[in-house]
Amino acid sequence: MHRRLRALDRLDAGKARSGSVPESVRAILVSLTAVVVTVPLGLALLGHEWGVALTRHGIVHRTPLGQPPVVDATGGSFAYQAHQPGLPDQPVTYDPCRAVHVVVNSDLAPPLTGALVAAAIHQVAAATGLRFIEDAPTHELPDQTGNRPVAGAVGATSPPVLIAWTTPERVGALRGRTVGLGGSTAVGDQLTGRRHYVTGTVSLDAPALSVMLLRPQGPALVQAVVMHELGHVVGLAHVHDRNELMSSENHGLTSFGPGDRRGLAVLGAGPCV
Ligand SMILES: [Zn+2]
Repeated sequence: MHRRLRALDRLDAGKARSGSVPESVRAILVSLTAVVVTVPLGLALLGHEWGVALTRHGIVHRTPLGQPPVVDATGGSFAYQAHQPGLPDQPVTYDPCRAVHVVVNSDLAPPLTGALVAAAIHQVAAATGLRFIEDAPTHELPDQTGNRPVAGAVGATSPPVLIAWTTPERVGALRGRTVGLGGSTAVGDQLTGRRHYVTGTVSLDAPALSVMLLRPQGPALVQAVVMHELGHVVGLAHVHDRNELMSSENHGLTSFGPGDRRGLAVLGAGPCV
């Protein structure tokens, strides 16, 4: 029997972190600084519309580090984990102008699975156009829910995406038929209200996936689990379609389906932040 793949619907995945300035104080600040904020507001809009940004080196162009592939615009089905406030057709995405850094905790990884994780990352990178960079290994583990503290996870200070081989004893949400969890945390731009992902977590059930590895096509199935969870990380939700890897139940698929690829292409084409 194929084990069920389920998402970590992170409680904080869709919640922007807003500023702490009370509305009354904010209104006063706006009225007092209407002229002062004109320049940064203009630059912020430029950043979204024309790909330029103000840095300590002056105005620089910001362009995506890669481009998603051209895909068939009609096939399959997909869904977003989260969308922009009031705009269901505009998903929350990672910043395509920054590399998505990844760290792997392979302390409990079954033998020879490092290449499977690397291949899964490569597949998601190719399908989104996002650039992934694997940093030095880590010993960090998610908490019981599959999350981890990301306080201060704003912009360039965000921790890398964590891919951790762990156990149901350590991550209680892996109990039962769930063999993997994945999701990301979004933060909000106080000026525009737009949200973007800054970091994420993948939890892999090492004992269960060790058993899966022994099945026919085991390595390909385990790689598919990692691809599914990374699909959640970059912003795909489950669909009720057995021809998509983002189905909550895996029916033997080992590659992304047509709807998966459409969704991943959209998620890789978000605005630069
Ligand atoms: Zn899932």
